[in-house]
Parts: sequence; structure tokens; C-alpha cells
Amino acid sequence: MYKEKKRGWHIPKEVLKEQFDPSKFPRETYLLCKIQWGDTGTPWIHWVKNYDDDRHAEICFLEDVFLMKRSNNVNCNITLYLSWSPCADCSHSILDFLKQHLNVTIGIYVARLYRVNAEENQKGLRRLDRSSQVNLRVMEMRDYKYCWRTFTRGGDAYDFWPRNNKAEIIVNLVTLHIILEDLIGRIKQSHNNSSWEEPKRIIKSKALLLAGWPKTKEYHYIITIYRSIIQMLLEH
Ligand SMILES: [Zn+2]
Repeated sequence: MYKEKKRGWHIPKEVLKEQFDPSKFPRETYLLCKIQWGDTGTPWIHWVKNYDDDRHAEICFLEDVFLMKRSNNVNCNITLYLSWSPCADCSHSILDFLKQHLNVTIGIYVARLYRVNAEENQKGLRRLDRSSQVNLRVMEMRDYKYCWRTFTRGGDAYDFWPRNNKAEIIVNLVTLHIILEDLIGRIKQSHNNSSWEEPKRIIKSKALLLAGWPKTKEYHYIITIYRSIIQMLLEH
């Protein structure tokens, strides 16, 4: 479908499965990107990882990938699928980049949340979320399907299985919501200022119940339910 795909920008299926599985904790960060200029242009796809380079994957993208294909004259929509959410420094760099490129908007979809206990990482995510040029959210089932279709070589049927990892996805959905609402401090307080581990354990036990429900395919439905989890954590 895309010219560039034929030139070898596919990611091996096993790598995609390993790196974006929310129940695993690999050291590297992978970034899959789709860049589209104008409303009708053909999207261009690419991927990078941080492992071979001291720079984080987001910085490799901003400094190398985007510049390869930049165009200042038309609106540009970037979609990033990140195996780990941006750290504080990368959030800062993305926002700086957006200030310099007012024609760009970015959708940032993350498979896992990176070191959420660190206050500066939470702040970075909140600042990203507040930007009118950013749409930040956790990768849901439809995103896994899209990445499988778009970033791997065709042939095999969809085999991304996060069926077993629905609970992990729900935990991340709830946790990102808690971070963006700046509720981690309040929730920790109501748990005797313990670490995030105890609230996380409670979210996970509820998420496991939700993951068993047939309707959990519809994550928007879950939003109304996870509000009740957050309320429960606050009143603990
Ligand atoms: Zn980073």
C-alpha cells in the first residue's frame, strides 16, 4: 500500500509482539510512526528504537526521521505508537518541537507507562496532554490491529492476541487517566502514602474482573466503569 513499506520499513512480527506486549517489560523503547501531510497525502511510515543509540527513541524520531521528510508548507499529522510512554525529558523535547512546528499535530499512543512513580514523568505527560497539538492515550485493541496491519509484512492473519492482556491494557488506561487528572498524590495519601504498588494491585484486581466481561471490547464503555475504580481508590 505504501511505497516505503516495500523498501523494508517493516518491523518483524515477533519484535512487535514482544515490544508492545503490555505485560512484558523490555529494556528498549520502540517507536512506530506514521506521518501524513495535508488531508489527502499518502502516509509515510517508519520505525526506530533507542537501543543502538544513546538517544531515546522519541529524540531519534524528532532529530532524524522527521527531518528526512519535513515540509513546512502543509499541515502535518504524526501518529506515534510507543512501546513506553515518553520520559520527562522526551515530553519536554516533543513540546519544544511542536512550538517550532505549529503546522504539526501528534497522536501519541503508548503500550506501557514509563516509571509513573516519578513525579517529573507524570508532569511531562500532563503537559503533553494539555497541548492542543497532542492527543495522548493508551494503545487499545484497535491500535494493535492497526500496527499489525501497517507495520509488519502482510501474509499472516492478525495474531496480536492482547486478549490475554486486556487487564494490562485496562490498568494502563486507568493509570494514565489518574496521572492526567493529577490524582496519584491523593490516592497515595488515602493509602497511607504507600508506594504506587498497592493502588496498582487494586486497579489490577478490578481490571481482571473487567477483562472477563464480554463488553470490555468496547473500551469507551470501560471509561465509565473505571471512574468508579478511581473513586474507590480515593475513598480507600
Ligand atoms: Zn525519553
